[in-house]
Amino acid sequence: MSDLLTSPIGQRRTLALRPRAAEMPPRADVAVVGAGLIGLSIAWRLAQAGRSVVVVERESVGSGASLAATGMLAPAAEHEPGSDLLLPLALESLQRWPAFRDALQAASGRTIDYREDGTLVIAIGRDEVERLRFRHDLQRRSGVAAEWLSGPEVRAREPLLRPNVTAGILCPLDAQVDPRLVMEALLRACEAAGVTIVERVAVDGLERQGGRFTGLRVGERTLSAETVILAAGAWSGETGLLPDDLALPVRPLKGQSLALRTTKRTGTLSRMVWTDAVHMAPKGDGHLIVGATVEDCGFRSGVTAGGLFALLEGARRVLPGIEEMEVDAVWSGFRPTSDDDAPIIEAAAPGLVVATGHHRNGYLLAPATADAVAALLGNGALPDFARGFGRARFAAQGEARGRAVA
Ligand SMILES: Cc1cc2nc3c(=O)[nH]c(=O)nc-3n(C[C@H](O)[C@H](O)[C@H](O)COP(=O)(O)OP(=O)(O)OC[C@H]3O[C@@H](n4cnc5c(N)ncnc54)[C@H](O)[C@@H]3O)c2cc1C
Repeated sequence: MSDLLTSPIGQRRTLALRPRAAEMPPRADVAVVGAGLIGLSIAWRLAQAGRSVVVVERESVGSGASLAATGMLAPAAEHEPGSDLLLPLALESLQRWPAFRDALQAASGRTIDYREDGTLVIAIGRDEVERLRFRHDLQRRSGVAAEWLSGPEVRAREPLLRPNVTAGILCPLDAQVDPRLVMEALLRACEAAGVTIVERVAVDGLERQGGRFTGLRVGERTLSAETVILAAGAWSGETGLLPDDLALPVRPLKGQSLALRTTKRTGTLSRMVWTDAVHMAPKGDGHLIVGATVEDCGFRSGVTAGGLFALLEGARRVLPGIEEMEVDAVWSGFRPTSDDDAPIIEAAAPGLVVATGHHRNGYLLAPATADAVAALLGNGALPDFARGFGRARFAAQGEARGRAVA
């Protein structure tokens, strides 16, 4: 078992690996704000393309949402009404995962517990089955691979589930990774590619000269760069970081999760299982991750009794065997959430690229986001699959809502 998960209850999760201690240099081709999954994925890709890259992180690598995630790459299970903009990008990114995995594992010498074992979304009782039917119809209309299963068919696949499970949907193409392993691999890959990562240094603001962004400011010091990339997760919308005319509609949505230790005696699930209340994801190191609450409470951090109770009750309702599993860790994190739950990826102004707002899909969307930003810096344009994710869409959505009300 990894010692990463045996931290005191609620303590922020950290990596076993540390970046080499680095001072902030005075200039680079690219300056990235935030050493989360998105910042490091982009930094790695750009350094591979020959650019000098410096990543500046206020706390430590992954300490935002990225080490709090479950690591599901689940566009089918996640598909819900209103996510039409997101679905093509999500499917594109899922397709890019095997190549991203291979390159990351080769560059870092680490494995990331990538598993293509699918998701099973299950229901108990008539009301839940009705909601599941609705979800299945939506999946079918959207062309997402999803197979309807009866209760006995569900239990044939997952015998540890309670016998009263009434029905399920198998989403066979969904996959998952272990976020801690991905972040460690990204850290290694970045360092191998020459990225400088500066931890425990907060960016106070961005430098702008004559309409062009020229670097970032840390106290009295500046880091000059041809391009600044804002990948500050849930903090990307904070006042002070960007000028008012470029303010981003990004807010934190808190999630609490826990890791249960499974053994030969307790057994475990063989794929991700979702209910209305929780998701459960079995990992290669024997942990079963149970997540995650969704709380609109600003940056109020910490793990609460209510949050844990909801997770454990939701899990036990379908998987009674959790009663015998030890709780190895509990934690919380802040999803970076935009007004329509889809990411913001764009050249927001000369010299400034924004890559944030990945909400509950940062892992799923990391390969497409990194490739899109690399293409943007390489040839000046976003690839087709990443177009339409700029801030302009929020104004258009607001106007459409206004018309509907009028
Ligand atoms: C409980 C939970 C479960 C999740 N499960 C999944 C999942 O199963 N699948 C999935 O795809 N996604 C999941 N997510 C979402 C995923 O974790 C995020 O979308 C992703 O990690 C966002 O990465 P990021 O790099 O944008 O943000 P972060 O990881 O938050 O990184 C942003 C970084 O910027 C730093 N920063 C902020 N301000 C400054 C500043 N002024 N100066 C310097 N640094 C700064 C922060 O300290 C932070 O480290 C989950 C999230 C949560 C919370």
